Amino acid sequence: MNLPSYHKLRYCVMAFATALTIAVPFITINDRHIFLLSFDHKRLELLGVAFDTQEFYLMPFLLMFGFLFVFAVTTIGGRVWCGWGCPQTIYRVIYRDLIEGLIFGLHRRTNRQKAIDYSKPINKIKKAAAFLIWVALAFLAASNFSWFLVPPEEFFVYIQNPSEHPVLIGMITIIALFLIFDVTFLGEKFCAVICPYVRVQSSMYDRDTIYTIYDEKRGGKLFDGGVKIGKKPLGANDECTGCDACVLVCPTHIDIRKGLQLECINCLECSDACRIVMNRLNRSSLIKWTSARADAGEGKTRFLRFRTIAYAVLLTLIATAVLAMSGAKEGMLLDITKSSRLYKIEKVGDVNRVSADYIFLFANTDDKPHSYYFEVVSPEGLKILSPSRAFQIGAGAKSKEIVTLYSDTILADNSTEDAKFKAQIRAYAEDDRNISVEREAVFIYPALSKLK
Ligand code: SF4
Ligand code: SF4
Repeated sequence: MNLPSYHKLRYCVMAFATALTIAVPFITINDRHIFLLSFDHKRLELLGVAFDTQEFYLMPFLLMFGFLFVFAVTTIGGRVWCGWGCPQTIYRVIYRDLIEGLIFGLHRRTNRQKAIDYSKPINKIKKAAAFLIWVALAFLAASNFSWFLVPPEEFFVYIQNPSEHPVLIGMITIIALFLIFDVTFLGEKFCAVICPYVRVQSSMYDRDTIYTIYDEKRGGKLFDGGVKIGKKPLGANDECTGCDACVLVCPTHIDIRKGLQLECINCLECSDACRIVMNRLNRSSLIKWTSARADAGEGKTRFLRFRTIAYAVLLTLIATAVLAMSGAKEGMLLDITKSSRLYKIEKVGDVNRVSADYIFLFANTDDKPHSYYFEVVSPEGLKILSPSRAFQIGAGAKSKEIVTLYSDTILADNSTEDAKFKAQIRAYAEDDRNISVEREAVFIYPALSKLK
């Protein structure tokens, strides 16, 4: 009987998810990442489009989309995310099955309940070596996470001078320490006890949700009121052999014959184990990925139902809104930094000219080149000394402009203290008036006693 081997399929999905997670931070379109949330540059890059902080209103929609998507997947396929896509499960598979099991032979995949035999000194050495390999991988995983916040091209420059980037180094260290503790000590206890998602997922289940179900009609009843009543079901026609292959293989150490349990991560390894046993008897696995409706013989699983249609409608609405909002983006980014010098006072004719320098960092996020300039909206009397004319920035390119603002009129009449103003700047593309942003910069006007 050629049924799919779930564990092989699961390992392929996990390998793909891992490769994708590592690759995504490196993929760019027009020099912009397909996902980057940079707090440093106050910028979100999504599918090659850059959004600045004013456009972060997209984030709640993206989060909503992410949560609803996981909820929809749970309603349709149970805890399939937990067993097949969650980083926690993938890290455990790498540590327990790959490093400890496959590389060092400390245990077999088909028996995850057997404790490591530490009476053999070699096993202690192997366990220590497995731990050290995981420590290295934990730092790699933590770095991989940080690449979604700090682009890899900057990350690899920053880590050459760790003392100058304590926040980044601290973040990686904390995440890595957590992963070491979580994966080598907590294990699947994290899924059953700590993960908040496990607490809410049962409310998303209905009779058509597919999850791991032991076929009690065929296999026979082994638990009564949660209490095990024997080594194997007692009925003469009960097919379960009591071999416990399904229990031994379970990574969360449960017996699926007891029914749906909080600890079950839907990995379906028990289904594979039972299939091998049952195939020897020319029968199909007693443990299936099916719905309560199909298991009870009430007809086929209904994938199109009120809940799944509602999720599809909501996800479509959010995706449409995100696309519409991305289309209405400003088309440029602008960061303004004031130079360290507060102001300069000079005599121009009969007037005191007060000026200050700023660094304007422009980014043309449009796919066409534009000619940019700007104006001072307020306070009245504050003007642009340089640059005196618009400048060209190519599609997707950046430009740094040294800007000098000045005032020949007295902006504040305080004789002893400097006055601080919020200068409102409006920058725009001269050739496309739809592209414009407003930013604030601080302009300091000196106390009158300092004027010449
Ligand atoms: S009961 Fe089966 S599906 Fe659930 S966690 Fe254990 S092995 Fe995986
Ligand atoms: S693997 Fe199948 S036959 Fe063996 S104990 Fe589990 S359910 Fe019964």
